[in-house]
Amino acid sequence: MQKSIERIAGDSEGVCYEFPVFRFEGTDKAASSAYLQAALHAGELPGVVAIDALMPMLEKAEAEGRIKGDITVVPQANPIGRAQYHFGEHQGRFHLGTRTNFNRGFPLLAAPDVELLPDTTLGTADQRLKTRLLQLSIGHDIVLDLHCDDEGLAYLYVHASLWSAMADCAAAMGVDAVILWDEDTDGTFEGASIAPYLNLPAEVARFDRRVATTVEYRGILDVDGALAGADADGLYRLLVARGVILDQALSTPGSFTGIVAPLENIDMMPAPRAGAVLYNVKPGDRVAKGALLATIVHAPGEAGGRTQVFAPQAGIILTRRSRRIIRAGEDLLKLVGDRKSADARSGTLED
Ligand SMILES: [Zn+2]
Repeated sequence: MQKSIERIAGDSEGVCYEFPVFRFEGTDKAASSAYLQAALHAGELPGVVAIDALMPMLEKAEAEGRIKGDITVVPQANPIGRAQYHFGEHQGRFHLGTRTNFNRGFPLLAAPDVELLPDTTLGTADQRLKTRLLQLSIGHDIVLDLHCDDEGLAYLYVHASLWSAMADCAAAMGVDAVILWDEDTDGTFEGASIAPYLNLPAEVARFDRRVATTVEYRGILDVDGALAGADADGLYRLLVARGVILDQALSTPGSFTGIVAPLENIDMMPAPRAGAVLYNVKPGDRVAKGALLATIVHAPGEAGGRTQVFAPQAGIILTRRSRRIIRAGEDLLKLVGDRKSADARSGTLED
């Protein structure tokens, strides 16, 4: 295993950001290669501790000569966001300098060729970081971007064209749900990992072996040793299932038995009033159409001071907020409906 340090120039003199990259060299050039990164939204740590638990497994496999494909690991992908505090609160989702989401604005390349990457020397630090992360990942058959939600189940975003060949990965990882999407014009890291292959002939694009996914490892507070160990086991099983690592002690993953739904089935449920949220449901709950989802206490102690929110359709609760304070129009939860949502905002990538 080789460790190197990446350096991203800041936007003013004397400022430079650093993050480590770990590389394991595979012994078989025909084997699938894998790229894993965590904490692109810098405060999302379940994936960071999962990688921490995975690394000894990779080092053991390397010592035993079982690493077949190249593996690149970036445990903390966003040192810029990591350093952003505003009045004592960490802000890891948007770059404070440009107000851009760290998981938007990745260049969507026409082919998997690093020569096509834009020159960001005169851009902003977050653009330089995005270009570098994409450069590090391009060329790998398996690209995993580890995030987390607010409070939620473990789930994946997967491009619809990859899903039929990726069900074994979801089963290996042990996630609860998979959300399928088919259009990304905003340049998420996942979208930018797939875009270069979309217009290539099938025998070059190799969607039968290509894996790209945004992994949502539950909620922001689910930073826990036991979960990290279980998630590391899931990542390891995926790498073995795809032949990146050899491990004859592991059996092939079974079929995926969790929830699979298209993005347009998700109801985001905006709060009708500002106030305190009393939830009536939690992630994983199955609800019927018309079920009480939450109560907003907007005028405490007054007659009519509570407003109830009901399920617009039957489905499963995927996520909810970790805080209970809300403004009107902010989203209360994600409901994976059995049918297409009637809300026009559904169908947009949410990470
Ligand atoms: Zn995220």
